[in-house]
Amino acid sequence: MKMHNFNSGPSILPQEVLIQSAEAIHNFNNLGLSILEIGHRTSWFKDVLDEAISLIKELMQLGSDHEILFLHGGATTQFMQVPMNLLDNGETASYCDNGIWGSKAIKEAKLFGNVHVAASSKDKGHTYINKGFTVPADSKYLHYTTNNTVEGTQWHSLPETEVPLVADMSSDIFSRPLPYSNFGLIYAGAQKNMGAAGVNLVVIRKDVLGKVQRAIPAIMDYRNHIEAGSLLNTPPVFAIYVSLLTLRWIKKEGGLAEMEKRAKQRAGLLYNTLETLPAFKPTVAKEDRSLMNAVFVMTNPELEAPFLDACKQNGMIGVKGHRSVGGLRVSMYNALPMESVEAFVQLMKDFSDKHS
Ligand SMILES: *Cc1c(COP(=O)(O)O)cnc(C)c1O
Repeated sequence: MKMHNFNSGPSILPQEVLIQSAEAIHNFNNLGLSILEIGHRTSWFKDVLDEAISLIKELMQLGSDHEILFLHGGATTQFMQVPMNLLDNGETASYCDNGIWGSKAIKEAKLFGNVHVAASSKDKGHTYINKGFTVPADSKYLHYTTNNTVEGTQWHSLPETEVPLVADMSSDIFSRPLPYSNFGLIYAGAQKNMGAAGVNLVVIRKDVLGKVQRAIPAIMDYRNHIEAGSLLNTPPVFAIYVSLLTLRWIKKEGGLAEMEKRAKQRAGLLYNTLETLPAFKPTVAKEDRSLMNAVFVMTNPELEAPFLDACKQNGMIGVKGHRSVGGLRVSMYNALPMESVEAFVQLMKDFSDKHS
């Protein structure tokens, strides 16, 4: 039986994507070859790349100003690659410090230039999203994390600024419509909402490039990847293929508006239940709650271990909170069926009854 998968990443993928991926490993497009065995410069793989790029442009409503890249190294590599390409020595970039991932991005940016922390939620343990701050006009860009995977907060509007927006969307990519064409650069590791681990999506508005003086190693220079069409070196062929299958699934199901509708239904049920059961306590500011990762604690911490045990016994995985914040976390990415949230909510109610 399929488990209820609340993993934070790598995480749940649509069942049909898994079946199609398995089939492609066995026999890709009926070629008598595995997807693992084909060259990345074949027309077969070119078709995969072209279709993935055109689906991304369609779903995000991007025009010709934006380039789509598939790169290695996870979102963590982007913490370094962004400032290496966009921020010169002596220049300043603004960053929002709203959680563990944003803090890591700040640390890396400091290796390349000056960082102005435009907003920080550290004072309250990153349990809210700052609003109404100003970004100095001479900032090269403003970097923020759209969804704080670990702390369970999410930006429900865009930060207001005139400088180019750079966003880490690793944990809410393709979960909602946004004015994506307004962004200077977007990056996301695939393994939370888009596919298998091993590939990064990077969306770049071309005008943000070519403005730094430093020498950039060839493999780190976005311009080289654009010129080579994501084929500067061997890309993660299989991971890109799984992303393509997921993108097809998103489109078929109704696109980003439908993904957002489902996310609101799932999170709505979970947060409503949290509020009615005294045994559980949400930890983040209500208006900033994430639709992807719900973070909460048990009023009596001693019941946490037995509750996690009950989850396990009921085929639910991934409910334990991140080691840095503790408590509980339920991740509800695009592919999570409503039935899984219904089952979890029922378990919460039963557990509360039993222990009240
Ligand atoms: C998971 C995650 C990362 C790290 O991704 P890697 O692929 O492991 O480098 C970065 N940012 C956010 C918001 C994440 O959720």
